[in-house]
Amino acid sequence: MTAARHQESLVERLREKGIESETVLQAILETPRHRFVSDAVARHAYRDDALPIGYNQTISQPYVVAFMTQALLKPEPPRNVLEIGTGSGYQSAVLAKLVRRVYSIERIPQLHRQSTQRLRELGVRNVSTRLGDGSQGWPECAPYEAIMLTAASPTPPDALLEQLVEGGRLLLPEGSPHETQTLVRYVRTPKGITRETLLDVLFVPLVSRTS
Ligand code: SAH
Repeated sequence: MTAARHQESLVERLREKGIESETVLQAILETPRHRFVSDAVARHAYRDDALPIGYNQTISQPYVVAFMTQALLKPEPPRNVLEIGTGSGYQSAVLAKLVRRVYSIERIPQLHRQSTQRLRELGVRNVSTRLGDGSQGWPECAPYEAIMLTAASPTPPDALLEQLVEGGRLLLPEGSPHETQTLVRYVRTPKGITRETLLDVLFVPLVSRTS
C-alpha cells in the first residue's frame, strides 16, 4: 500500500470509531504521521497506536489526537492554542491546519529540537515552539482561547488556567502516571471554572519543576 492509501484507511478507522468532524479527519489525512517517527517504526505510523519517539516518550494514538482536536474545536474553533508537550510535533501539525496560531512547549531539549526542525521541513509556519516547563505556560503570548496538555497531571496547573481567556477551554489527561487517566475539559467562565469528563486515556506524565 502507498502512504496515501494507509492514511485513507486510518481516517476510515477513526470515522468508524466515532470521529465526526470532517475538518479534523481532513487534517489527519493531510498530516504525514510517518514523518514524525523514526525510520525504525515508520511502517507502523498509520496504525491507530501510540509509538515510541525516544527519551521514554510517545507520539499519541491517532484516535486520541483526533478526539482531543475535535473536543478543542467546540463550540467554535479557537484562534490560538497552547499545547504542552510538543513531543514529535504531530499534534501541533494537526492543530496548525485548523487554527491560526499554535504555541507548543517541550521540556526535553532533543525532542524540542527535532520537532522544531521537522515542522520547519514540512512547511508548517504557524507553530511557535519553545523549550521549557509547560506547566508554567507561555505568559508572553497569553491569553489563549484553548490549551491542550498532552501529558498527564493529577490537576490542571494554575498558571495555565490563568492564561485562558474567558470562555477559553483547557484539555487535560487527568490522573496519575501509568494509571488510566480521564480526559477532562475545563472551561473558564465568568462564574469560575467548569469541569467535564470526556474519555479514558493513557498519557506519559507531565514533569514539572514542582512535581
Ligand atoms: N503531543 C505529542 C505527544 C507527546 S508525549 C505528539 O504529538 O507527539 C508528551 C510530551 O510531553 C513528551 O515529549 C514530554 O517530554 C512532554 N512533557 C512532559 N512534561 C512536560 C512539561 N512540564 N513541559 C513541557 N513538556 C512536557
